[in-house]
Amino acid sequence: MGLVIAIDGPAAAGKGTLSRQIAETYGFQHLDTGLTYRATAKALLDAGLSLDDEAVAERMALAVDLGGLDRAVLARHEIGEAASKIAVMPAVRRALVEAQRMFSQREPGTVLDGRDIGTVVCPQAPVKLYVTASPQVRARRRYDEIIAKGGEADFDAIFADVRKRDERDMGRADSPLKPADDAHLLDTSEMSIEAAFRAAKNLIDAALKKN
Ligand code: C5P
Repeated sequence: MGLVIAIDGPAAAGKGTLSRQIAETYGFQHLDTGLTYRATAKALLDAGLSLDDEAVAERMALAVDLGGLDRAVLARHEIGEAASKIAVMPAVRRALVEAQRMFSQREPGTVLDGRDIGTVVCPQAPVKLYVTASPQVRARRRYDEIIAKGGEADFDAIFADVRKRDERDMGRADSPLKPADDAHLLDTSEMSIEAAFRAAKNLIDAALKKN
């Protein structure tokens, strides 16, 4: 089986950029697992269905097509909020985790990023990274991103949002966000994405030698 690289961390810590760079460098397949929760949430929102009915949400989760996930379509703030609400439901998580595990076995190797990859989805992954940054730094990055695109943003609102999402993701009973015991911590508060990538590359190259 190919190498599995598990990358976890809170929203806006830089794990998406890092995961894409790693996948591209090694020619591995990449799954942004947040998109599976977002696609489930969007299907419910589009159908005008309740976000509180676990059986209905499970049905939507079982129908998610991993080949049709597009961050541009799923980026909206309401979708992210709805995703973190349905992500507390065990039946939804079971359905999506099953699909994510299947994906992780693809050749020649895979990079999965999310909140529970190293702890629940792929606990046997030989490389586990936990990418984090302070809430201030993450909110600032979000803010700068929006301004750079010519949008309008309110830093305080974004900061409050980052905190709220952290609380929900870290506080839930099923698969809360936390580093796996054997994960390598990369705090990007004071580290460039290039430096984070170099650190990740050293760990992956060492794992490939052993594989
Ligand atoms: O990473 P992203 O913001 O796209 O994720 C949306 C939401 O999906 C997260 O706030 C989290 O609640 C949920 N999620 C999860 N487990 C994952 C990935 C995302 O619970 N592996």
